[in-house]
Amino acid sequence: MTQKILIIDDDPDVAALVASAAHEKGIDCIVAADAETFLAQLSPEISLILLDLVMPNVDGVELLRMLGQQTCTTPIVLMSGVGARVLETAVALAKSLGLNVAGHLRKPFRIAELEAFIQRPAEQKKTVRESRKVVLHDDELTRALLRGEFVLHYQPQIEIATGEVIGVEGLVRWDHPVHGLIYPDSFITRCEGLDLIGKLGTLVAARGMSEIAGLSASHNRPLILSINVSAFTLRDLSLPDTMFTLARKHNKNPAEVVLEITETGLVNDLSQALDVLTRLRMKGFQISIDDFGTGYAMMQQLRDIPATEIKIDRSFVMNIENQSDRVMVLKTIEIGHELGLKVIAEGVETSAQLDILRTHGCDIAQGYLFSKPLPPKDFSAWLAKYSPLQAS
Ligand code: C2E
Ligand code: CA
Ligand code: CA
Repeated sequence: MTQKILIIDDDPDVAALVASAAHEKGIDCIVAADAETFLAQLSPEISLILLDLVMPNVDGVELLRMLGQQTCTTPIVLMSGVGARVLETAVALAKSLGLNVAGHLRKPFRIAELEAFIQRPAEQKKTVRESRKVVLHDDELTRALLRGEFVLHYQPQIEIATGEVIGVEGLVRWDHPVHGLIYPDSFITRCEGLDLIGKLGTLVAARGMSEIAGLSASHNRPLILSINVSAFTLRDLSLPDTMFTLARKHNKNPAEVVLEITETGLVNDLSQALDVLTRLRMKGFQISIDDFGTGYAMMQQLRDIPATEIKIDRSFVMNIENQSDRVMVLKTIEIGHELGLKVIAEGVETSAQLDILRTHGCDIAQGYLFSKPLPPKDFSAWLAKYSPLQAS
C-alpha cells in the first residue's frame, strides 16, 4: 500500500521540510494550511497525520476534537513551538479523545526526529509504533508469559561526577516468534487490562535480578538494577514480600534494586499504594519517581511517596537548552537534593545536555549519549569497552 502523510501547518517552511523528508522516503505528502482542506483530505489512505497545534486561523485543539468525533484511528503526531507542558497536555487530551497519538515534535525539531515518524514502509515493521498494528490476541500474551518470551534490555546509568556506570535500567521487550521484538508501549497497557501485569512484573524482577547479578559478578563491579513497576502492581499488598523473596533468591541486596514508579494510577488507591511503597522501603528497596515533571501533582508526590530518587522526564532533558525546560530541570535538581533524594536525568542524548546537567549538580544520567538499551550480551560487551573518559 502506498503511504500518504497529511500535514496541517500554517508555516510553509515546516510543511516543505516534512514534504521533502517524506518524498525522500517515497511517501506522498499532502499539505493543508487550513482546517477545511485538512478535513477534506482525510481518508483511510492517510497513514500519518502531522498536526500543528497553534495556527493563526485554526484551532489545533478543536481539530483534535473533530478527529475524535470522527473516531479517527490514523496515527497523529502533534507539533508545536509552544512550551513542552502545552504539548504534553495536548497529547493527554488527544489520548483522552481516543486518538492514536504517535508522538509529538517540539519546534524547531531536527530532521532525524521527524524521520523517526516517517520511516520507509519496509522499515516500519520494526518500529514501536508500527508494532501496535500487529494484531495481538489476548491469549497470546498469556502464552508468551508461560513460554518466557519476554526479555530485558539494559540501558546504563552513569554517575555524572565520575563518569562511572553505577547501574542499569531493565526495559522489557516481547521477543515474539513471528513479529520479532515488540516494545513495551504495545503491550503494557494490555497486560494491565488483562490482569497479567503482576505476573509480568515478577518475571521482569526475577530475570533482571538474576541477569544483573551475573553481569555484576563477571565484570566484578556492583550494579544497581532499576525496573519499572506498574501502578497496578502497587495495589498488590504482597508485592513487598514477593520482591524480598526474589532478591534473596538472587542474592541481591534490596538497596541495589530501584523500583521506578509513575504517578499515573497512584491517584486511585493512593493509600494502598503508599502502604506497599512504605513496606518496600522498609525492606530496603529504593523507590524512584519516574517521568518526574509530567504529572499533575508533583509537589504532592514528593511529599507523600517514600522516594529515594527522582527521574526527570526525558521531555525536559531533550529541551534543556530552552529556558523554561531548563528551569524545570534545575529546580527539580535543587528540590530533590534538599529532600535528600538522588536526581537522575533520562533521555540524555547530547554532551551539551550532559554539560548543563553536570553544571547543575544532577547525579545520574541515562540516555542514547551513552547507549541504547541493549540485550544482556551486548550490554556486557559495551560495559567491557566503556571508559568514563569518553563521556566527559
Ligand atoms: P520509561 O521508563 O520512561 O523508559 C525509558 C524509555 O526511553 C525506554 O523506552 C528507552 O528505550 C527510551 N530511551 C532511553 N534513552 C533515550 C534517549 O536518549 N532518547 C529517547 N528519545 N528515548 C530514550 P522503552 O524501552 O520503549 O520503554 C517505554 C516505557 O515502557 C518505559 O518508559 C516504561 O514506562 C515502560 N516499561 C518498560 N519496561 C517495563 C516493565 O518491565 N514493566 C512495566 N510496567 N513497564 C515497563
Ligand atoms: Ca523507567
Ligand atoms: Ca521515564
